[in-house]
Amino acid sequence: MSSSAANLNTAKPELSRRTALLGALGLLALPGAGFTATPSDAGVWPRPLPVPGGVARLPLGPSAQRPVAHQGEQPLLVVGDMIAWTALVGIPLAAAPGEASISVRTPEDGLRQISYRIAPKRYSEQHLKVSPRTVDLSPEDLARHQRERAHQETVMATFSQPLPATLRMRVPVPGRQSSSFGLRRVFNGQARNPHSGMDIAAGTGTPVVAPLPGRVIDVGDYFFNGGTVWLDHGGGLLSMYCHLSAIDAQTGEVLPAGARLGAVGATGRVTGPHLHWGVMLNRTMVDPALFLA
Ligand SMILES: [Zn+2]
Repeated sequence: MSSSAANLNTAKPELSRRTALLGALGLLALPGAGFTATPSDAGVWPRPLPVPGGVARLPLGPSAQRPVAHQGEQPLLVVGDMIAWTALVGIPLAAAPGEASISVRTPEDGLRQISYRIAPKRYSEQHLKVSPRTVDLSPEDLARHQRERAHQETVMATFSQPLPATLRMRVPVPGRQSSSFGLRRVFNGQARNPHSGMDIAAGTGTPVVAPLPGRVIDVGDYFFNGGTVWLDHGGGLLSMYCHLSAIDAQTGEVLPAGARLGAVGATGRVTGPHLHWGVMLNRTMVDPALFLA
């Protein structure tokens, strides 16, 4: 069996195969037992959105072992069970809409390619005129930023076990959530990197909590991001918290969901207090909103 064409038609048979197997294993709830074993899209995290900055969910079919999947060189998070595996693919904001593919290896089928389509999405654009001082870095600041970026690259390459038990995140801080993920900013006519996270408005000192269990893999005070904590949730799913006024976690510490990791602030290059929250999958910043209930 190969490619996505075959997978498009397998949704129903897979459900009934799952039902039959769960029944055979005694895992299927009896009618009236208070819950149902029927999967539904409403309970799926992250929500599928195959656009630049979104996440594609690619069905891989059954296999006795968890398939090994890659996008280019980058390992992918594969979730599910031996009846139906799914690869979760973070799609870069810079990706061109159109055909894309991943490679998948299973003991049964060997190595195969699975193709999918990246749909177009138009993000809004913001033109700002600002004092050149605020966009042109001094040689010292530029050197600092380059050192910090090299360090962050090594942090972003983290791909660890165990895989996350759930992908449904709670909000790291209560507050108004901006919809500015993907916003293309142009300062004085120069295009900057698009906004790659969610900004949540909250006052300085408001506690920031882990949205999922995770290991602290980096803390620091960075030129652009200010006080920053990185969490590793396993399987290449990372999250980042920036502009913190306080950091209450140490590298290596394992936090349960809901544990305080720091407090909202206005450190780094910002105009006011807020949390910048980034979610990274297969080394790609994706829209955090897709992981929220
Ligand atoms: Zn931001």
